[in-house]
Amino acid sequence: EFGEDVGDEDDLAIRPPVVTVMGHVDHGKTKLLDALRKANVVADEAGGITQHIGAYQVTTEVDENERRITFIDTPGHEAFTAMRARGAQATDIAVLVVAANDGVMPQTVEALNHAKAANVPIVVAVNKIDLPEADPTKVRGQLTEYGLVPEEYGGDTMFVDVSAKSELNLEGLLEAIVLTADASLDLRANPTQDAQGLVVEAHLDRGRGPVATVLVQRGTLRVGDSLVAGPAYGRVRAMLDEHGENIEEADPSRPAMVLGLNAAPGAGQNFIVVDDDRMARQIAEKREARERAAMQAKRRV
Ligand code: GDP
Repeated sequence: EFGEDVGDEDDLAIRPPVVTVMGHVDHGKTKLLDALRKANVVADEAGGITQHIGAYQVTTEVDENERRITFIDTPGHEAFTAMRARGAQATDIAVLVVAANDGVMPQTVEALNHAKAANVPIVVAVNKIDLPEADPTKVRGQLTEYGLVPEEYGGDTMFVDVSAKSELNLEGLLEAIVLTADASLDLRANPTQDAQGLVVEAHLDRGRGPVATVLVQRGTLRVGDSLVAGPAYGRVRAMLDEHGENIEEADPSRPAMVLGLNAAPGAGQNFIVVDDDRMARQIAEKREARERAAMQAKRRV
């Protein structure tokens, strides 16, 4: 069944946190996501041309250990809530971006309320500290009133001053994400079972046909696997990572662009790997019939 790891404690291995970047419009979410994708300590990955496939992974060094973090590459809480509306919990940690010149704005509050409602821990990125009018202390005071008390004031929320534009202290932000994951989450998954996870985005490519970026949540997805993704199905013909490179497999928290489905499933729909193509097709057809019936029922009311 979807959503459960197979096996017991011994089968679970630590997995990277999955992060969504949220915050008020123009506070620098897109710029920060672009800067972070370049802040990769693994040399051979840093040079690669990166593509926007809906999610990417970076490797950082914390206490001399290489640690990976997955970022959902769609900023804002709309994608987050759309996923949640489908019952999908894709995000482990929310990075709340607040511009240090503007301070807390209406969508800042909206975003933090969404994260709180989903029980997702928040790391605050105080952005645009390169600006002369930046006032990061004011931001800390404002967010304290919303229950986000900085660690340095005795609270349990990590605040990190950054500049996405000047690429200042991005390592500090990555470290805060890893430390927050270690302190408040137990992120483990069984990497050996059949893969399951979520569709992050999908579209119909003129040359390649339906392509779907999936986030593996448990198990390992491999080329050749038969899968059902929402009402779509197919055999994984090829997988690409965020550098456009072919990959043979994707482990937990790894985003991968999948080729070989018969249609483009919706964001937030789950996927499961099944025994063979026939089974994939049967399950997909059942799901499609169920969706069609639900749509008709909706139209009638
Ligand atoms: P979003 O709406 O939150 O995704 O914001 P964007 O990433 O599109 O950024 C909005 C504007 O702020 C753009 O003009 C960016 O160049 C600018 N910006 C983003 N980060 C910084 C920063 O660290 N410093 C400065 N000075 N400008 C920034």
